Amino acid sequence: PELVNQIAAGEVIERPASVVKELVENSLDAGARRVEIDVEQGGARLIRVRDDGGGIEADDLALAIASHATSKIASFDDLERVGTLGFRGEALPSIASVSRFSLTSRARGADAAWRIEVDGGRARAAVPAQHPPGTAIEVRDLFYNLPARRKFLRAERTEFGHIEELVKSIALARTATEFRLGHNGKVVRILKAVESEADRARRVADVLGEEFLGQSLAVEHAGAGLRLYGWVGLPTASRAQADQQYFHVNGRLVRDRLVAHAVRQAYADVLFHGRHPAFVLFLELDPALVDVNVHPAKHEVRFREGRLVHDFLYRSLDDALSGARA
Ligand code: ADP
Ligand code: MG
Repeated sequence: PELVNQIAAGEVIERPASVVKELVENSLDAGARRVEIDVEQGGARLIRVRDDGGGIEADDLALAIASHATSKIASFDDLERVGTLGFRGEALPSIASVSRFSLTSRARGADAAWRIEVDGGRARAAVPAQHPPGTAIEVRDLFYNLPARRKFLRAERTEFGHIEELVKSIALARTATEFRLGHNGKVVRILKAVESEADRARRVADVLGEEFLGQSLAVEHAGAGLRLYGWVGLPTASRAQADQQYFHVNGRLVRDRLVAHAVRQAYADVLFHGRHPAFVLFLELDPALVDVNVHPAKHEVRFREGRLVHDFLYRSLDDALSGARA
C-alpha cells in the first residue's frame, strides 16, 4: 500500500502548497471557524495546520490515514452532488507516505485527544495526547524518502509564495472562517472572519488590498438556476491587478478553459488592450450539474451544460462591464 500511496501522492502532492490545500480543505470540511497554518522553510521542513473543527474520534484515527477511506461520501449517488471539498479519501495517506506525519485530534465532545504518527507510510499505534477540540496535522520533511521529488522543490520564497497564494484563494471563498498564516515563526497574514455574505467585500479587501475594490465593478447576476457574484477589474485598473484571477464554483477554486474563455470574450468587447482582467468571481449552481471528480487534485471541473454556463458567464460580465464601456 505504501507504493500505491506514493503513486497517488505523485498525482495530488506536487509541492508544499498542495499539502496545505488538502489539509485546509479537510479543516473546512470539518466545520472549522479558525484555521492556523504554520510553515517552516517554505513548507519543505514543516507544514502544520490546526483547526477548531469537529475532530476525529479515537476509533476513526487509523481510518483517516487509510487509503480511500473517506467519511464524506457513502454512495455513488453522493458523488453526484459533492458538497464537501474532499471526497476521495486519498490525501492523508498520500501525504503520510511521503513525509514524517502526525495527526492529533480531539473529537467534539470527547474528553481526550489522540495522536497517530506515520513515518514514510509506516503508522504507529495511536497514543493519548493533549489537544483542544479540533485537529492538528504536522507534515515534516516532505518527500524526504523520495529524493528525486525533494530535489524539485524550488527556493523557499517560491514555495512559500505558492502557499500564500493558495491561502488567499481559499480565504476569498470561505469568509466565515478566520485564517492565520505564519512562516518561520513570523505571522504573515491574519484574516479575520466576516459575519455575513454582505461583508464579503471586507475579506476581499483584506486579501487583495483596498485598491482592488477601488478598481473593480461588482457583479451580481442570477438566472436559469445559476448565480454569479463577485468583482471584475475595470479596464482602467493598474497593471498590478492583472494576475489576480480567482474563480470559484460552489466554493471550490477552479481553473477552467470554458470560464477563462467567457471572461476574455466579455472583456474583448470593452477593449482591454491585451491585458488580463483581474476578477474574483463565485459561481453557484446545482452540484449535480458540475463534475468535480475530473482530476485527483480537484482543481478542474466539468460542467454538464457547458454552453449554458459559458453564455451565462458571458452575459453577466458583459452586463457588468457595459457600464465601463462608455
Ligand atoms: P477526504 O477529504 O477525501 O475524505 P482525506 O484523506 O483528505 O480524504 O481525509 C480522510 C478523512 O480524515 C476525512 O474523510 C475525514 O473524515 C478525516 N479528516 C481529515 N482531516 C480532518 C480534520 N482536519 N478534521 C476532521 N476530520 C478530518
Ligand atoms: Mg481531504
